[in-house]
Amino acid sequence: MNNNTTDLEKKLQALLLAEQDNFLQGKVADYIPALANVKPELMGISVATIDGQFFGAGDYQHPFSIQSISKVFGLVMAMNRIGDSIWQRVRMEPSGQPFNSIVQLEWEKGIPRNPVINAGALLVSDVLTSHFSASKLAFLTFVRKLANNEKIHIDNQVYLSELKHGNLNAALAYLMKSFGNIEAEIPDVLSHYFTQCSISMSCQQLATSLLFLANKGVDPRTQKSICTIRDAHKVNAILSTSGMYDQSGEFAFSVGLPAKSGVGGGIIAIVPGYGVICAWSPPLNSYGNSVVGMNLMAAITEELGLSIYH
Ligand code: GLN
Repeated sequence: MNNNTTDLEKKLQALLLAEQDNFLQGKVADYIPALANVKPELMGISVATIDGQFFGAGDYQHPFSIQSISKVFGLVMAMNRIGDSIWQRVRMEPSGQPFNSIVQLEWEKGIPRNPVINAGALLVSDVLTSHFSASKLAFLTFVRKLANNEKIHIDNQVYLSELKHGNLNAALAYLMKSFGNIEAEIPDVLSHYFTQCSISMSCQQLATSLLFLANKGVDPRTQKSICTIRDAHKVNAILSTSGMYDQSGEFAFSVGLPAKSGVGGGIIAIVPGYGVICAWSPPLNSYGNSVVGMNLMAAITEELGLSIYH
């Protein structure tokens, strides 16, 4: 460990200390009942850099439900599989609506606004279900490889809970199918989507597995191409405008990085040319974003001067 490591880890620890009571301002997601079985006071943060350094503080090794952060992996897999044709079935615009909203989808004839709201992620799940013989296994394998960890698994309790309480997601999928924008059978699409949302990962695993998005599509550890430079650009663009849902504008103001949140309380932020930050704290604000996670992201990017808008 060099001096820089020590300094940044100390900073991360200080940021967590400053936030230690703020989890009380949020509410753990319970619309998926199994997600409520988490200690609300847990919090962690990690920073992985493309030059191979890693920094973590707090509960950064504690696995949590990645939920919508899985939409990032899914999009990359789908683009790798069917290329730009995906953009005929899903758009790249902010939705201005909550992540699980259905109203826009009827007006816009079953074409989701972007791939990171639920409708868009279900569309992506349809692409994966239709183009892989075993899409769930392919997904898990992809994530395990990126995280360099074979132990990453699906939390079956969360999966079953999502399935049982997934009527709104089912409605989104059936509405898209009625417009001819879903190919596979709906139960298969939902099963894929809930599986990817139910993967458990830690801040450390998420930050390291997404390094390719900070490095023009190339995994800096292996020098392997995970996606094209153009697709890395597209993913980061979508994460900048839509990754924090209806709070993406505020996140651009306070942080200024492509990012994705999940209702498990995780947030990942990509710093092109530098690395990936992942923050986790389960209690959420009304937009479905982690209260403490948002604060931590703002504080660390300010501290390190990482905003892409500087
Ligand atoms: N599985 C969750 C859902 O479909 C994911 C939502 C999220 O993390 N924002 O509602």
